[in-house]
Amino acid sequence: MLGLRYFVCAGCDRVYADVQEPPGCACGDDGFEELSDVAFDEYFLPDAG
Ligand SMILES: [Zn+2]
Repeated sequence: MLGLRYFVCAGCDRVYADVQEPPGCACGDDGFEELSDVAFDEYFLPDAG
């Protein structure tokens, strides 16, 4: 995965994929929660199966 990590904005739930935590979100919030690979799959594929 080239070291990509996923961060979800605490303010608007927008997800960023980057090698490090983004400095801030377009919505003005700067709080991010990192998603693990497992959580990422669950986040985007809630109806899988
Ligand atoms: Zn945001």
